[in-house]
Amino acid sequence: MIRVLLALVTIVVIVAGTLLFAEHPGTVSLDWDGWQIDTSVGVAIALVLGIVLVLIVTWRVLGFVLSAPRRLLRQRSEDQRLRGFRDLTRGLVAIASGDGKEAERHRLRALSAFAKGGHGQPPLALLLSAQGALLRGDTEAAQQAFTAMLESPETAFLGYRGLVMQAARAGDDAAALQLTEKARQLRPNSSWALQHQLALEARLGDWRRAMDTLREAVKRRAVSAETGRRYKQVLQIAHSQRAWSEQRTRDALSYAAQAHALDEGFVPAATHYASILRDEGKTPKGLRVIEASWSRQCHPDLARTYDSLLAGEAPILRARHFERLVDLKSDDPQAHLAGAASALSAQLWGEARRHLDRAGARGPGPWTQKLCRLMAEVERHENMTPGGERLWLERSTQALRDPAWLCRDCQTKPGTWSPICPACQSFASLDWISPTAENDAARRSTAEIIEPSIPVGRAAPALRQPPAPPPC
Ligand SMILES: [Zn+2]
Repeated sequence: MIRVLLALVTIVVIVAGTLLFAEHPGTVSLDWDGWQIDTSVGVAIALVLGIVLVLIVTWRVLGFVLSAPRRLLRQRSEDQRLRGFRDLTRGLVAIASGDGKEAERHRLRALSAFAKGGHGQPPLALLLSAQGALLRGDTEAAQQAFTAMLESPETAFLGYRGLVMQAARAGDDAAALQLTEKARQLRPNSSWALQHQLALEARLGDWRRAMDTLREAVKRRAVSAETGRRYKQVLQIAHSQRAWSEQRTRDALSYAAQAHALDEGFVPAATHYASILRDEGKTPKGLRVIEASWSRQCHPDLARTYDSLLAGEAPILRARHFERLVDLKSDDPQAHLAGAASALSAQLWGEARRHLDRAGARGPGPWTQKLCRLMAEVERHENMTPGGERLWLERSTQALRDPAWLCRDCQTKPGTWSPICPACQSFASLDWISPTAENDAARRSTAEIIEPSIPVGRAAPALRQPPAPPPC
């Protein structure tokens, strides 16, 4: 629009000028060194304008020719810069495909291109150098590259992150924690830094600082409110275990009660609290704790703790207590398995069979290994069906595995729950998993291998023994 207006104004000025000189003609005379030129005013003005135009064009052409070498140099430098970044990109792709040597080759080519173009080493080259060194297993070179990354504000966080991983791999959790705290100073909202700090503090057994970090992580949404509640329970159980081992009974009871109150359905909190109550001679309260948790989830650990609370009573009385427990969840096969085990202890074979039938023994299957074993025991004692015991023992070899505690990070089954996985020292990583869910967890774990949460480090400081768990 502006261009159209300018063109219109130019045309109007030219037309007006032409008309002006047509209406008021005149002459211009130039007399110089024996030369005399007489011409009209219009021609003289056109001549001056023409000379000005030629001068401008000449100036432009001269400028273009004189600046050509500089432009060529700038273009070459830009080409080298682009070539360098192209090689860095190819190097990163090589990292993603796990080829450390190829990544190093591209890094060296990129550095050469940057040098030829007169550019310094971009921070990204350091990252490529570190990752390539890691892939080649050259931890010293990786350490140097990550340390060099701390010099640049753009890569300092990544440098700290790499050094944290290096320290954790070397088993130096204390150094990893210090570096994680420095990374957090750079990015206070970083979910990675908060989660790692929490995991490392827990691994080092610093439950108090872990609790502070957890509060911060929930506040900054690095951990969801629901996960934060579960982590809090785990930390309170860990606090309670330590207090118990140091004979601070009141603290142990207080932390255990708080953990249980947060979610009565969380089995480790209920069994730990009830075990302390048992050892403190508060059996009725311990029974109530287990029953409250049982009404949410029938879990073998609850049944075992319940049985240990009744250890002083005769088997027949314990079986009567278990009847009450079964009635709380009479539709759950797991409840009837617990009832059957208790009835077997009291030699109530018919009662045990009735519970096992309710747990699914009479159905077409599939049966769990525990149900098969209990049925085999009933058949051995009752001997109602010829070959019944052998049949159920055979079935147990084909039966579904029973649910178990499984570490979602390293896929080991430690047998009992603990705040820290005894195999990989991950915090709060044990889940109660059925065999079908186990396969899903394994698939998920494989997918997550690309970016493991915390690399396997050395064994965490051993916790002093919590209250003795009931026998399996
Ligand atoms: Zn583990």
